Amino acid sequence: MTRAARELFVDGGETGRLMAALDWGSTPLGGVDTWSQSLRAAVRIVLSSRYPMLLLWGTEFTQLYNDAYSALIGDKHPGALGDDVRVTLAEGWDVLAPLIEEAMATGVASWVPALQLLLERSGYREEAYFSVSHAPARDDDGRTVGIFTVCSEVTEQVVSQRRMRLLRDLAVRGGDAAPDVDGTCTRLAETISGHPLDVPFAAVYLREGDRLRRAACTDDEQVRAALPAETSDDDAVWGIATAAGGSAAEIGGLPARLTLPAGPWGDPVVTALALPLPSAEAGQPLGVLVAGVSPSRALDESYRSFYELLAQQVAVAVRNARAYEEERRRAEALAELDRVKTSFFTNVSHEFRTPLTLMLGPLADALDDEEEPLSGRQRERVETAQRNATRLLALVNNLLTFASVEAGRARSDTRRVDLAALTRELASVFRSAVERAGLRLEVNCPPLPRAVTIDPVNWERIVTNLLSNALKYTFVGRITVELHADEAGVRLTIADTGIGISDAELPRLFDRFHRVPGVRSRSHEGTGIGLALVRELARLEGGEVQVHSRAGSGTAFTVTLPWTALDRPATANGPAEGTVGAAARGAAREAAGWLADSPGTPVPATPGDVTGARILVVDDNADMRAYLTRILSDQGWHVRAVGDGRQAWESIGHETPDLVLTDVMMPHMDGFELIRRLRRDPATGALPVLVLSARAGAEASVEGLALGADDYVVKPFAATELIARIRAALSGARLRRGTAPVAPGGAVSSYADPGPEETAGAATADAGLPAAPAMDGVRRPDVSRPEAVRAVDSSWTYRSEPAAAATMRRDLRAALTTLDADPDLVQDLVTAASEAMNNAVEHAQHPSRPEVRVGLRVDGGRVRITVRDFGTWRDRRPAMDRGRGAAVMNACADVRLVCHADGTTVTLERSV
Ligand code: ADP
Repeated sequence: MTRAARELFVDGGETGRLMAALDWGSTPLGGVDTWSQSLRAAVRIVLSSRYPMLLLWGTEFTQLYNDAYSALIGDKHPGALGDDVRVTLAEGWDVLAPLIEEAMATGVASWVPALQLLLERSGYREEAYFSVSHAPARDDDGRTVGIFTVCSEVTEQVVSQRRMRLLRDLAVRGGDAAPDVDGTCTRLAETISGHPLDVPFAAVYLREGDRLRRAACTDDEQVRAALPAETSDDDAVWGIATAAGGSAAEIGGLPARLTLPAGPWGDPVVTALALPLPSAEAGQPLGVLVAGVSPSRALDESYRSFYELLAQQVAVAVRNARAYEEERRRAEALAELDRVKTSFFTNVSHEFRTPLTLMLGPLADALDDEEEPLSGRQRERVETAQRNATRLLALVNNLLTFASVEAGRARSDTRRVDLAALTRELASVFRSAVERAGLRLEVNCPPLPRAVTIDPVNWERIVTNLLSNALKYTFVGRITVELHADEAGVRLTIADTGIGISDAELPRLFDRFHRVPGVRSRSHEGTGIGLALVRELARLEGGEVQVHSRAGSGTAFTVTLPWTALDRPATANGPAEGTVGAAARGAAREAAGWLADSPGTPVPATPGDVTGARILVVDDNADMRAYLTRILSDQGWHVRAVGDGRQAWESIGHETPDLVLTDVMMPHMDGFELIRRLRRDPATGALPVLVLSARAGAEASVEGLALGADDYVVKPFAATELIARIRAALSGARLRRGTAPVAPGGAVSSYADPGPEETAGAATADAGLPAAPAMDGVRRPDVSRPEAVRAVDSSWTYRSEPAAAATMRRDLRAALTTLDADPDLVQDLVTAASEAMNNAVEHAQHPSRPEVRVGLRVDGGRVRITVRDFGTWRDRRPAMDRGRGAAVMNACADVRLVCHADGTTVTLERSV
């Protein structure tokens, strides 16, 4: 080679040196010295470029290229130098040829941004991408005799963008709400199927106990057949067991079990990966993803990390689907529970309705019987029973309607109705109750332009609920009922000048069971479903209800029904008079019961009054007042009955009774306030008060007793028990006034200062107490000495809590009745023990044991009850309530009190 020829390649680096050494004479280009100026110039351009460049020259497409290009063709270099490109890139020639031929034919340069090329540069048929430009290379005469190819590899960008797309698609589709976990897996597999160049096949296995079940698979029969439908942890197939244990596994030699053509060139998949699907909790993976590896891409680091992301993406979708499925199952379970509850509710209500209806029939018959008319007293009793059964029926009906509305089963039996006349009629049912309450009822329901279609029974419920609420919560002024029509529809407004509703309460007013707490009302009876029912019924009739209210000024409820609803065709024909009005009449009767009698209406005492005791009954329920009056009058006591605390207070101002029997929840002044006032006034401070209330529970009884009530009876009660308690309270009070050993108010001293032998210590007193049994309040008769028939030796342990007194009373009564003792004696002892127990619970502070032990021993003709607490008594000064308690104890039994280092024992004794 001449010097000039050598100089041509001198700046060509390693490739330049190889080119200089090449025997060009044996190539179609001939010796370098023979090369045209144009070819030399073109070679210089190629060799001086840092960008990968290839020059094809002559009819044989002889290749000349630079260092940068040599790196792209892998092990084809240096053999490609001086060789025909159609031989070197034979595998990709079908793609390249049209581009080169076009550039040569037209002399116009071409550019392809990401040309997919099959390359066999690394020992396998590789999927590669190049950004390529072909430009014509001309000879000295200007003819196109070659091609400049400038290219750069973009395989990495193309492939990673494609993989990102798959991951994104998985995130999107896996997040779509699927019906269940398997549905989600199927979607994931479908999504993966759409990206075969990256993942030729895949299958998702989920753990179910010690098995792994194939939940989904990409859509290919061969794959489905080759991969197991289920496998266990110790099954070595497909690396699934390894992956299930938490480590990824690579499975080679696939063609032996699955010949799946894949990649752009349809080469068989050789490798697959089994990857753990990480679970939220560390430890066991939730399953395994088996995924094929493209035969056209090396399983390099970036491909591996793509598979890891793929497995994570699948795991997240499966976990979300599980959580969703769980959530749905919970919601379904709740809905089912609700359905069951509603149907139970409905059935139970039905069960109530039948016997109630069967009771009401005979009661009405008895009242209407002219042949055998009821005597005055019997009539009164039957009327009470009838009123209350009617009320119960109304409540049950409301609940039943509500349950069917909730269950979506409520019906609207629509008829053509003169709505103005119906509304007037319903309002008139309430007139007498409203006027008796001292209120005005204004009804303004002019005839509507036409008859409307509505369920009259539903309408009656709406009007009745709103009217009885208006009466319940209005004390002065008026109630107005208005019905008007305009172009939009018909509007019913029931307004009152009552207590109103505060803004804070308005949003929840129509919620079921919601009641505004602590408001003044004519009756505390109520369930809180009235307004919820009004709203549901208004909706059922195609309308809605709204409320406007100002606290202290009054309330207006407006029910609007659009003409579209009122002009529907009727579903039933004929009048519905038979059923209409019954609910309204029942509600009006009930409302009449709230209206208090005038203060202190004397109830005539029955003859046979033995003690001459005067009892004041305070209860806001008229029937309860009548009932109590009757049963107490039957005992020969003089009874006065009033409707609330305020009336009671006034009545006591005129004449002090011997005992007050009061309800707790009452309008104007409740039972607690009444007791508080009575106790503050020296004239009534010692007046025995019994609380009678439906408000069961320790809290209420503590409050009642702490304020100084003498006893607490929970409704429903047995008449005999109430009478016995009143008797005990009256006799206690009488003893206090007369022969009682201790005067009220100073009583504690009589038993708070034990004699010297009793202060000797716990041993003495404890000798009377049995060993501590379990703290369960359960009766534990310890010993029954067989030689003494009437001997008893029992003990009980109660938790130190207000309810203990009631439990203890029952236990003691049961044990004492086995003695066949005088009932008065039993009553006295139970009363005294009850006081001792209340003191132990209320006054024993910081107990070392939160219990009170009660012992009962009967022998030698004596009954001895011991009440032992384990606290420090808070207050040793005589107090009004404790004074009375001590007086009662002293009146009922011989009382001793022993203080121990860790508590107090009160001993109550009587001769049998
Ligand atoms: P209930 O009367 O059984 O308590 P409702 O659902 O009928 O239940 O009423 C819910 C609450 O709304 C009542 O407890 C009461 O506090 C309030 N309320 C209803 N109507 C009136 C009214 N006309 N005036 C003032 N408060 C009312």
